[in-house]
Amino acid sequence: MPELPEVEVTRRKLAPSLVGRRIAKVHTTRASYFFLTPPARLARELPGARVDELSRIGKYLIALLDDGRRLLLHLGMTGQLFAEHASSVRLLSAAARAALAPDAQLRFRPDVHTHLRLEFEDGGPELFFRDVRKFGKVRLLGPGESDPRLEKLGVDALAATGDELFQASRKRSVAVKSLLLAQQVIAGIGNIYADEALFLAKLRPRRAAGRLSRRECVELVAAAQRVLLRSIETGGSSISDYVMPDGSDGAYQDERRVYARTGEPCPDCGTRIKRIVIGARSTHFCPHCQV
Ligand SMILES: [Zn+2]
Repeated sequence: MPELPEVEVTRRKLAPSLVGRRIAKVHTTRASYFFLTPPARLARELPGARVDELSRIGKYLIALLDDGRRLLLHLGMTGQLFAEHASSVRLLSAAARAALAPDAQLRFRPDVHTHLRLEFEDGGPELFFRDVRKFGKVRLLGPGESDPRLEKLGVDALAATGDELFQASRKRSVAVKSLLLAQQVIAGIGNIYADEALFLAKLRPRRAAGRLSRRECVELVAAAQRVLLRSIETGGSSISDYVMPDGSDGAYQDERRVYARTGEPCPDCGTRIKRIVIGARSTHFCPHCQV
C-alpha cells in the first residue's frame, strides 16, 4: 500500500511532467466508487485547465488548477500514477506478470484498470492513473471547496513535532503503534514506517501511548521522519504494486530492519524479530531492543 514516502516520491517525479501543462482531453472508465466526482463531469470540466502546482497532504496528492479548483488524487491500495513511456512489470496484471520471464519489461498501454488518462494541449506524454483494486480516489474540488478527508487529517508526518505527539498521546491508553497510525493525529505514517520508527526509537509497539515521556515522543517522531526521508531518498518501498512514475521500483524494502522480517535476526542484537497483531495490523519488533 502506498504510504507517505511513495506518495511524496510520486509527487516529486510527476510534478515536472504535470505542472505548467494544460489538459486537453480526459479519458475515464465508467462510473464507480473510484470516482468521487462522476467521470463524465471530469471529462467535461477538466479540459482547458492548466496544472499550476502538485502538492501533498498525508497520502493525498493535490493538483492545483489555474482557476483555483483542485484535483484530489489518492492512490488507495494499488493505485499507480505515472507518465506515458513508463515501463514496469508491476504495471501488468498478475496473470500477465506470471506469464513473463522475470526480467521482461513491457511498455505500458492503457488497459481496463486505467481509470483516468489525461491528454495535454502540448501533445506530450499523457498521464495515467491505473488502479487494479480501485480503492484509489479522484475528486475535483471547486475553488475554496474542501473535502472531509482532508479536513480530518492531522499534521503531515514530515512537519510533525515530538511535542505534538506528546500532547496527542496524553491520557490515551491505545498502543503507541495505533497512535502512530491514527491519521487524524499525524498524517502519512503507515504500517511499514510505524514498525521501523518504533524499532529505531527502541519502543515496544504495544506500549500505552499515554505513558510515553516527552523525550520518548521527540525521539519517536525524529525516528519516523528519518525512516520516511530515507525511504523517499531510495524511491519508496515496492512491496506489491507501487512503482515510481517512470516505472522503476523503489528500494526501501531492502533496508527494512523489522517490517515483515518475522523470525529473522534483529540487525542490532540478533534476537529473532517477533510478529504480533495490534489493531488488526501486523506488527514486527525486536523483543530485546524495544522496551
Ligand atoms: Zn534487537
